[in-house]
Amino acid sequence: MKTNKIIILLSVMAFLLYTISCGSKHVSIRKSANPEVAYFCPMDTMINEANPGQCTVCGMNLIKNPNYSGEEINTVVVTSTGDTLHE
Ligand SMILES: [Zn+2]
Repeated sequence: MKTNKIIILLSVMAFLLYTISCGSKHVSIRKSANPEVAYFCPMDTMINEANPGQCTVCGMNLIKNPNYSGEEINTVVVTSTGDTLHE
């Protein structure tokens, strides 16, 4: 009888410890990333992609970066006659 009580007590304590440790796990969710990043995973800070898709770590859909600068590389060519060409 006494052993059962000890087992129950231990399992309750283990459960409490587990709950406390899970509860304190700090999950930081990213809402934006550096301006050069087009898409990122909100859960995994190392996942930054140029194209939409799924995170290779957690499988979540990547989020479009609201800070993305979207820098288009504008190449301007000046010909020998002084004309400018945009590529
Ligand atoms: Zn992820």
